[in-house]
Amino acid sequence: MNQGILYHYSPEVETEEAQLVVPFQERERVLQQYHDVPTAGHYGAEGTYNKVASRYYFPGMRKYIAEYVKNCPDCNRYKPSNQKPTGLLRTPVYAQRFETLAIDLFGPLPETSSGKKWIFLVEDTSTKWVELLPLKKQHR
Ligand SMILES: [Zn+2]
Repeated sequence: MNQGILYHYSPEVETEEAQLVVPFQERERVLQQYHDVPTAGHYGAEGTYNKVASRYYFPGMRKYIAEYVKNCPDCNRYKPSNQKPTGLLRTPVYAQRFETLAIDLFGPLPETSSGKKWIFLVEDTSTKWVELLPLKKQHR
């Protein structure tokens, strides 16, 4: 306990700093911050756990995070490849330019004078050509 805030020191987490103990009712908000937001990137259970554990702790955290990721509607909808057994080749060879495009979304950034605060990024995985498109909103 330090200045009214409870910290947790874990021998299994490789971090110098103590983990902030998350109150029961705040667990979901932490998970949203470390898994759901566009910059968090919907990591798998292990990746999400490592990111959360670098700063936070609550009892039953590993199980809670595994369940949370398993029940994430976005992960279930958009990332079926996450369920492939490990050992499969995950990086295909892209022969043709503009055959495969990778997309990403950055933000929110400081708003421009025209109200844009998100960047939609499109990359051609073959040539690495990148187009950046400023957006007002992250969705329609
Ligand atoms: Zn997810």
